[in-house]
Amino acid sequence: MASSAQTSAAPALTRQTGAVEGPRFADCILPLPLADAFTYRVPDALRGELVAGHAVEVPFGSSKLYSAVVARLHDEAPREFAPKDILGLVDDAPVAGEAQLAFWRWMAGYYAHPIGDVMTAALPGPFRLHSETRIVRHPDFDPDAEDAFRDLDDKGYAVALALAEKEALSIKDIQQLLQRKTVHATLRDLMARGIVELEEDFQPRYKPKTKKRIALAPALDAAAAEAAHPEGSEAQNAAVEAAEDALQEAFEALERRAHKQLAVLLAVLAHEQGPDGDQPLYRSQLLRRPELGSSGPAALKALLDKGILEEIEVTVSRLAEGHEEGALPVLSAVQQQAYAQVREGFAEGVPVLLHGVTGSGKTALYLHAMDAEAREGRQALYLVPEIALTSQLVGRLRAVFGDRIGVYHSRSSAAERVETWQAAASGKLDFVIGARSAVFLPFRKLGLVVVDEEHDASFKQFDPSPRYHARDAAVWLAHAAGGRVLLGSATPSLESMHNALEGKYRRVPLDVRYGTGELPAVRLVDLRREAQTQRLDGHLSTTLAERLQAVLDGGDQVILFQNRRGYAPTLRCQACSWVPQCVRCDVSLTYHKHSHDLRCHLCAYRKPSPSSCPACGSARLVYQGFGTEKIEDELALRFPDARVARMDLDTARGKQAHERIVHGFEQRDIDILVGTQMVTKGLDFEGVKLVGILSADALLWFPDFRSQERAFQLMAQVSGRAGRRGPGEVLIQTWDTKHPILQHVVEHDYARFYQQELAQRRHWGYPPFLRLIRLTVTHRDAGVCADAARFLAKGLQDALGKRVLGPTAPAIARIRNRYRQEILLKLEKDNTIGRTARAAIRNGTDRLAVSTAQNGAFKQARVAVDVDPW
Ligand code: ADP
Ligand code: ZN
Ligand code: ZN
Repeated sequence: MASSAQTSAAPALTRQTGAVEGPRFADCILPLPLADAFTYRVPDALRGELVAGHAVEVPFGSSKLYSAVVARLHDEAPREFAPKDILGLVDDAPVAGEAQLAFWRWMAGYYAHPIGDVMTAALPGPFRLHSETRIVRHPDFDPDAEDAFRDLDDKGYAVALALAEKEALSIKDIQQLLQRKTVHATLRDLMARGIVELEEDFQPRYKPKTKKRIALAPALDAAAAEAAHPEGSEAQNAAVEAAEDALQEAFEALERRAHKQLAVLLAVLAHEQGPDGDQPLYRSQLLRRPELGSSGPAALKALLDKGILEEIEVTVSRLAEGHEEGALPVLSAVQQQAYAQVREGFAEGVPVLLHGVTGSGKTALYLHAMDAEAREGRQALYLVPEIALTSQLVGRLRAVFGDRIGVYHSRSSAAERVETWQAAASGKLDFVIGARSAVFLPFRKLGLVVVDEEHDASFKQFDPSPRYHARDAAVWLAHAAGGRVLLGSATPSLESMHNALEGKYRRVPLDVRYGTGELPAVRLVDLRREAQTQRLDGHLSTTLAERLQAVLDGGDQVILFQNRRGYAPTLRCQACSWVPQCVRCDVSLTYHKHSHDLRCHLCAYRKPSPSSCPACGSARLVYQGFGTEKIEDELALRFPDARVARMDLDTARGKQAHERIVHGFEQRDIDILVGTQMVTKGLDFEGVKLVGILSADALLWFPDFRSQERAFQLMAQVSGRAGRRGPGEVLIQTWDTKHPILQHVVEHDYARFYQQELAQRRHWGYPPFLRLIRLTVTHRDAGVCADAARFLAKGLQDALGKRVLGPTAPAIARIRNRYRQEILLKLEKDNTIGRTARAAIRNGTDRLAVSTAQNGAFKQARVAVDVDPW
C-alpha cells in the first residue's frame, strides 16, 4: 500500500504521511438539501487539528465552494468516489459542539429533512457563506469617511475598496479579486467591522459597533493633567497650570472670532462638569443639543482640527450593556405553592406544564426557575412565540437579570447573532430569550428551557424548511442535556395537556390572577338579534358601541380584535358576481383602502382597485366582509374624539413599528387598539377594561382540524388582556351564540373545552391520538402535479396501506403559480411505524427523482414534507 495515487479515482488513503497524526477523513454537512454528510479528505495541515463542529471551506461540484461543518472524523475511505480535500478552516473555534450536531441529526431524522437545511437554519449567516452568496456594502459604511479603511489588512482593504465601487460581489468575485480560494475569514472580519453584510440579511436597525466620544484635548484638560502626575508633585502643579492657561487662551480666541465654536466648547465643558460628567459624551449626543443648531458639525470639526477637542472612537458591544440587575419578584402564597410543585416535577425528571390563567404571574415563576439554574452554574433558554411581540417581556427580564440575558432571533443583525452565539457558547450569558431559532444556540451548559405560551402556532417553523416545532425541539434538547423543561400557558395545546394526563408531563395549575385581579366577565353579542332590531350599524353592534363609549368616558382603554387585515376581504360585482382573483394564487384579493389597491395575502401580487366591473361594466361594486382597516375607519366616524391605533402586519411589520404602538398604548396615548392576533399575545396593559372580538364566526369555521382549538385559544388569550387591574369585560360578536366553543370561552372553562375537543380528535383520528405527516406536491402544471402526487401516494400505500390519505387538492389549490396536491399520513404513535413512514417518504421522493432523471416525467415537481403539521 505504499504506492502513491496515480489517478484521481484512487483513494487518498494510500498516501504515507509519517509524522502526521489524526483522522484522515471528515464527513461534512453542506448547506445543501443533501440527505447526508459528504466525505472529504483532511489535508495534512489540518490533521489532528480538526474537530467535529469546525466550520471548513470545501469544494463541491465542478466549481462551487461552500462553508461546511465537520460532523464526524474517521479513517474509513469512501469506496465509490475519491474524496476532495478540505481547503481550510473558516474559524479556529468550532461553531458547534457535539450536542448541536446530535440535535441537528435528530431534527433531520424526525422531521424528515435534509441535514443541510437544518444546519442552514441553525447557523447565523456569517457561519454559512456559499459561493452564490452575495456580499453587499453595509448601509452605514461610508467609504468616503476618513478612517473608512483603517486597520484593514490587504485582503480586507481590497474587498472594501471593490465594494465602494460596486453594489454587490459574489463569493466567486471575491475569490478572483483576492486570487485565492479561502476568503471566508476576510469576509467575517469585514462583517464584524460593519463594512459588509450578506444581501439576504434583514436589518431593521443599525446599532453601531463603535461610537465617537468627544472630550477636551489632554493639553487643555486640567483634570487629566492632575490625574497624570503624582499627587502634590511639582510636575502636577505645572501641568495643571499649563492646561488651564491653554483652555483660557482658547476661550479668548473663540470669544473674539468664533461664537459657534465657543458654544460647542461650552457644551462639552458643561457636560464634563455636570452630573453625568463621568459618563462619556458622544458626538451624536453633543450635536443634538438645541443651542448648537445646524452649525454644530462644522464648528465641532473646527475645534477638532485646532486640537482643542479630541474625538476618540470607542467600541461598544452589540450585546446589551448597562442594565442594572434587580430583585426577583416575591411570589404570592399561591405562586409559591405552584413553584414548589414545579420543583417537584423537575425532581421527577419530567417536563412541567404550568397551566396558569392569564395574569396569574407565570413570568414570575419562570424568573425563579431561571435564577435557580444560574445559581447552579447552568444556563436557561426562554422561548417566546414571536420576538416582535415581546419587547415588554425583555424589559421585565432585564429588570431582574440585567445584562446576563441575551436576545436572539432572526431579525437581529448578523453581527448581533454571532455575538450572542459566542456568548452562549462561552457561558458569558446566563440566559437567552429568543424566538424559535434560539433552540439552535450552542449553550455551554443548558439547564432549563422555558417555553412561554407553549400552545402558540408560531413555534412551528413552516417556510423555509426545516418544518420543526420549537417546543418539541426544546423538549428533546433539554432531555439530551439532562436539563429541565417548563412549558407555560393559560390555554395549553391538546398535545401537552394529553401528555400531562398520561403522566408524561407534570401539570401544575395556577388558577387565580395575581393580586386582586379577577378574570373578566365574558358576554356574547347576538348579531342576529342586533340585526333584527336594527342595532347593527356597520360592523360594530350597538351593544359593543355603547360599552365602548362608557369605557372611554371612564378614561379606560379598549382592545378590538379582528383576525383579518386590510379593508375588505372581497370586492364583488352586484350585477354579475365577479370577484377579483389573484393571478398567481387561487384566492380572492383583499381590498386595502389606504393604498386603494387589491392585494393577495399569499404572494405579493397587487393591482389598483377598479371603479367598475371589468367583466360587465357595472359600477355596483360592493365590499364584503371586513378587516382591521375598515374597523379603524368606522371607529374614526363613530368615536371622533378617541385616539385609535391599528396593529397588524401592515402597520407593524418591523420590530420598531410594533414597539412604538405597544409603547403608545402603554403610555395611554392610544384609547382603542384594533388589531389582528398580534394584539392577543403576551401583552400586559394596565388600563384595558374592555376587549371586543368582532367576528368569532370567522375563527370557528376555518377548514382545519385545529380550528376549534385555535379559536378557543385566541379568544381566551385576547380576553385575558382585559381587566388586569380592576374588573374587565369582554364582548364577543357572533351570529351563532349556541356554538359550544363560545360557551366554554364565556365560562372560562378550559376543562370542558378540552374534554369535548379531545373526544372529537379521538373520533376522527387526529393528534394527539395519531401522528400526522403531510406531503405537499407542487408543480406549475396542474396535470403534472396530480400525476406526481399519485405516483408518490402509490409508493407510500405499498408501505403504509390505509394510513395514506389522498392525494387531494387543498382548499387553496394554487399558490404563486404552483398547483398543489396533498397526501396525508395518519400514523399510530409507534416508533416502528414512524421509521417505516420516514423510509417510505425518502424512498418515494428518491423514486420520483429517478423517474424524472430517466424520462423527465416529473421535472420541476417539488415535494415538501411536514411532520406534525399545524
Ligand atoms: P401571565 O403571564 O400568567 O398572564 P404575568 O406574568 O404577565 O401573567 O403577570 C401579570 C401581572 O402581574 C404582571 O403585571 C406582573 O408584573 C404581575 N405579577 C405577577 N406575579 C407577581 C409577583 N409575584 N410580584 C409582583 N408582580 C407580579
Ligand atoms: Zn360585473
Ligand atoms: Zn397571490
